[in-house]
Amino acid sequence: MDIDKIDKRSLWKQTLERVKVSVTLPNYNAWFAPTHLVSISQTSSGYLLTIGCSSSFVKNTLEIRYLGFLQEILKSSLQKHCEIEFVVITDPNKTIPSKEIESSTPLFENLFAKTENIDNKATSCGLRKGYTFTNFAVSSSNQMAWAAAEAVANNPGNAYNPLFIWGGVGVGKTHLMNAIGYTILESQIEANILLCTGEQFTNDIVEGIRNKTTQSVRNKYRKLKALFVDDIQFIAGKDAVQEEFFHTFNALVNSGGQVVLTSDRPPSEIAKLEERLKSRFEAGLIVDIAQPDFELRCAILQIKSKEKGLELDMDIIQTIAANTNSARQIEGFLIRLITEIKVRGIEITPYYVLEMLGKPQKDEGKNINIKLTPDEVVLKIAKYFSIGKRSLLGSSRQKNFVLPRQILMYILRVELGLSLQEIGRVTGGRDHTTVMHAVDKIKQLISTNVNIRGDIEGIKKMLL
Ligand code: ADP
Ligand code: MG
Repeated sequence: MDIDKIDKRSLWKQTLERVKVSVTLPNYNAWFAPTHLVSISQTSSGYLLTIGCSSSFVKNTLEIRYLGFLQEILKSSLQKHCEIEFVVITDPNKTIPSKEIESSTPLFENLFAKTENIDNKATSCGLRKGYTFTNFAVSSSNQMAWAAAEAVANNPGNAYNPLFIWGGVGVGKTHLMNAIGYTILESQIEANILLCTGEQFTNDIVEGIRNKTTQSVRNKYRKLKALFVDDIQFIAGKDAVQEEFFHTFNALVNSGGQVVLTSDRPPSEIAKLEERLKSRFEAGLIVDIAQPDFELRCAILQIKSKEKGLELDMDIIQTIAANTNSARQIEGFLIRLITEIKVRGIEITPYYVLEMLGKPQKDEGKNINIKLTPDEVVLKIAKYFSIGKRSLLGSSRQKNFVLPRQILMYILRVELGLSLQEIGRVTGGRDHTTVMHAVDKIKQLISTNVNIRGDIEGIKKMLL
């Protein structure tokens, strides 16, 4: 398509029409309506589109959640790959004459009043502040759970019932559960929903029995449009509580109410959970969330640091992501980082971040804890990757030999302190520039690739 023939306005209008059919109306109004196409230019591989956003909040959300989605739509209209950059700028075509601004003020007031009302209602329903879909990042480790949660949020009582989300500590179960509740309130503020922990539910039942108010406790739970119980495993082994939960569950689901549960393990593995509850839970949809991968940790870091008013460069984000495992660890680290910045007023560098993470970078050649000879190291690494010594030291360019070979050179250099020439000799007569290239390559991979880091750690343990 000839770029001069593209009409920016109609291209964007057409794009937004297509967005509209794929996202919910609140999402459309919040994130897409306040955008316009600023410019479009040709690049070597396709087009570059600059999209104007009314605020940095809109810009961030589009970048984090909808970039790929917009690219797909644009690619299918323009038949070429599209790069997109977002900028914060108001739409010149939408400049509001000053008279209208005055008359439109109540509209904004209404909008804010509405969010405030939802926030208040959310708190009274037991929801936690700030846990929404907007600030929930998605990647392969939580994609299924997220999609199921969105489906339930948009169609409570009908999509999956119950929705059972399980996974380790800090993987975002509580966040996702709250996001469902918040979305239900956004479309139906009067909805009668309740979020509690397994422990709170237990306390309520026990209190009810003690004070002879069981009936009113029942009424409270059984009439809900949606009930969310976080950490349901807590009720296992408590007979009266499980009994009560079973009847609550049935009453609620039979009258079209939605139940969402989280746990640290799947129903089948919760010890002392009554069989009839297990089978009820298993009748719905069970999804698990794994620990976040590197990309997801980066996205979470971006979200959390922005929420805390901290702008971190990408190399800092990647360094932290490469050296943490979970979202909880990330949050803990950010709090420490903010304190450091405030207390010491220092500039944050990747080196400093590594120091804080307790992983100071060692000078090459000075870290010689390993007592093995280079030849012994060769054998151990061959064994670690289950390949023969010949393949490890040979000249095959197959990936499953090249990477172990480069790791071997890296270990010999960094952990044993051998010179480049020596390493060349030990590894079958290689040139020192080849060795240098391999060592650099692995160093770079270590900061971006979790699997490689895992391999290096594993090998180091084996060599000690
Ligand atoms: P869990 O209930 O699984 O133990 P939480 O939902 O309490 O975990 O999450 C721990 C912290 O990590 C919260 O601050 C949460 O906002 C954050 N978090 C976890 N996963 C994500 C994600 N995918 N996107 C954004 N924040 C996340
Ligand atoms: Mg939790």
